[in-house]
Amino acid sequence: MGERLGPPLSDPVFEDLTIIGIGLIGSSLARAIRKQNVARRIVIADSAPEALARAEALGLGDAYAADLPAAVVDADCVILCAPVGANAAIGRAIAPALKRGAIVSDVGSVKSAVIAELAPILPAHAHLVPAHPVAGTEQSGPDAGFATLFVNRWSILTPPDGADAGAVAKVRALWEAIGANVEVMGAAHHDLVLAITSHVPHLIAYNIVGTAADLEDVTQSEVMKFSAGGFRDFTRIAASDPTMWRDVFLHNKEAVLEMLGRFSEDLTALQRMIRRGDGDGLFELFARTRAIRLGIVAQGQETAAPDFGRRGPDSGSPAG
Ligand code: NAP
Repeated sequence: MGERLGPPLSDPVFEDLTIIGIGLIGSSLARAIRKQNVARRIVIADSAPEALARAEALGLGDAYAADLPAAVVDADCVILCAPVGANAAIGRAIAPALKRGAIVSDVGSVKSAVIAELAPILPAHAHLVPAHPVAGTEQSGPDAGFATLFVNRWSILTPPDGADAGAVAKVRALWEAIGANVEVMGAAHHDLVLAITSHVPHLIAYNIVGTAADLEDVTQSEVMKFSAGGFRDFTRIAASDPTMWRDVFLHNKEAVLEMLGRFSEDLTALQRMIRRGDGDGLFELFARTRAIRLGIVAQGQETAAPDFGRRGPDSGSPAG
């Protein structure tokens, strides 16, 4: 969307920062942190040797390590950017190596489960400040990232009760330096909000694309040929990373099931309106939903351009 970063910081927020998991989000962070001078030195770690080699070829960091304790030993801040299902194992691996007062943050799309898993594992001298940037694309891997991914997007911080105010301020400074707007909220509330704005929409997209793929009296080539009728936009979301999204649903079970229950009730009501020929009911709902889209455009979270404004290469969406 042609978003631009502001001027780089004159003084970095961190001396040494480690990113674990150099995929779409990790590599976007590395690029943005480098560009904005947020850390003097960036260390990159990943369990996938190909991802690490690619990160090195792209020059995303200053040092690269497959060994997690070695990657964090000098870090003032460690950001976990692997799928959320990997966080507990990563936390156990890095805990003994963390420097006194090190900040541990993450970018996971769910927050209560991440805190429940990481808080008991990390040493008392470390500061846990979880974060979730509400920005992304359906791509994965170190090549997919770009420095402006977080510009004018929200990053939600969910510090646990009693979190160190100085550590929270530093994590906020990091996100603001790379163009994000920061909001602080409780982890449980975050999970409920994201269940309806991100997780359930992804589930619906996965479901409708799966249903279309399984149809018998409509061929797959017809589904693809006539996809511009609306289906195409669901396929973009349903192309999102399978590992990441499996972990999201397994770790935000309660909030997703709660929102899915409401969704099913509303879908049943719509079914009834169609069966009964309730045109007024349908029209009234469609008019209300159109207003929500106009509100999103007005808040700068989408452009009013046709085709959902997603013709450009850096059109951040959909967000996990
Ligand atoms: P991604 O592109 O698939 O990258 C994840 C990277 O982490 C991969 O290189 C993966 O290696 C690596 N990894 C997996 N397990 C690891 C471990 N135990 N130790 C070290 N590295 C490990 O994923 P992503 O889209 O950047 O998502 C990363 C995180 O960001 C997730 O927690 C997700 O919930 C969150 N998030 C995503 C979006 C989005 O739209 N994509 C938006 C906001 C937040 P392998 O390929 O070998 O597994």
